[in-house]
Amino acid sequence: MNEQDYQPETLAVRSGTVRSQFGEHSEGLFLTSSFVFESAAQAAARFIGEEPGNIYARFTNPTVTMFEERLAALEGAEQCVATASGMSAILACVMGVLKAGDHVVASRSLFGATVNLFNNIIKKFGVETTYVSATDVSEWQAAVRPNTRLFFLETPSNPLTEISDIAAIAAVAKSCGALLAVDNCFCTPILQRPLQFGADIVIHSATKYIDGQGRVLGGAVLGSRKNLEGVYGFLRTAGPTMSAFNAWIFLKGLETLKIRMDAHSLNALAMATWLEAQPGVSRVFYPGLPSHPQHELAMRQQKTGGGIVSFEVEGGKEAAWRVIDNTKMLSITANLGDTRTTITHPASTTHARISAEARAAAGISDGLIRLAVGLEAVVDIQNDLARGL
Ligand SMILES: *Cc1c(COP(=O)(O)O)cnc(C)c1O
Repeated sequence: MNEQDYQPETLAVRSGTVRSQFGEHSEGLFLTSSFVFESAAQAAARFIGEEPGNIYARFTNPTVTMFEERLAALEGAEQCVATASGMSAILACVMGVLKAGDHVVASRSLFGATVNLFNNIIKKFGVETTYVSATDVSEWQAAVRPNTRLFFLETPSNPLTEISDIAAIAAVAKSCGALLAVDNCFCTPILQRPLQFGADIVIHSATKYIDGQGRVLGGAVLGSRKNLEGVYGFLRTAGPTMSAFNAWIFLKGLETLKIRMDAHSLNALAMATWLEAQPGVSRVFYPGLPSHPQHELAMRQQKTGGGIVSFEVEGGKEAAWRVIDNTKMLSITANLGDTRTTITHPASTTHARISAEARAAAGISDGLIRLAVGLEAVVDIQNDLARGL
């Protein structure tokens, strides 16, 4: 398929498909760890890269390749490498791009395990990280050192939906010779394509919206062949690659991604608008609301506000827990990007291990609740929350 000629909806269902000799319509699931050769000479040609083709599933697998091609088409990326989880995508990115003595500038509003990876794992190998505001571009500029090689951000951020200006931060990265990596988990390529705004690398936790049905773990790193060379080299050698079965699930997930993201977004906007009008709700955080401080930037960068809505209730932790414990339908879980709406109290779960002062500085109050709005009828989600509110 010539990808330039097709819209995202079409790419999501048709790109990347390679049929086997059986002519199957739905993509084949190749559960095989290795591949056989017709001769010793062919084996040799494959191993030295003279002839393209599969060798061993830690390197490539046809089902995984189809998923990679389809996601690359949607993100507008030259290459995609699939990984076992979102965290192994981030690990592969840093292992592929950085070496001892390098420096990272990262947003202060990152997924907890990403912060843990920077602070406790890659630090052991001599890579230091400086954290800056997700929204103040001058802080990124000021944090740059001669050895800065990587900028890392997530937008919208979790759970407060802060929006980072990808184009402006990419320009700073470019001016100092660093690569900008964007974790695009919350938006998916349906709502936001960071490479278009100058990012160099896009990262996904496919576990979330790309599966969209809460079944399997997976991730991906996307970018130019040049920027991904070390990333793929790390994966092929160290092995946190995506399983064929998971890739097959994700291929099916991508086929419905557009209609799901549209539906999540519509439901989330309806929930955010409703929450703003509820007594006892002091603040609503949703990029699709005109009251969001970066609404305009969000609407320039993203097609919609996405599926995540956070809100603050008056009365702190006690009130927040009352809202959560009075729901009968919503799933009390920290996962997101599922067909089912999930409800989380960040201060006592995802952000419980950081100090109360750090939490307050990050704006995560005890009254804050995060909703990952699912595909149920909005009225049913509202009724479930209204009981506790
Ligand atoms: C969940 C998540 C990850 C980690 O992905 P896993 O698939 O759980 O390893 C990374 N970044 C963001 C923004 C996430 O929400």
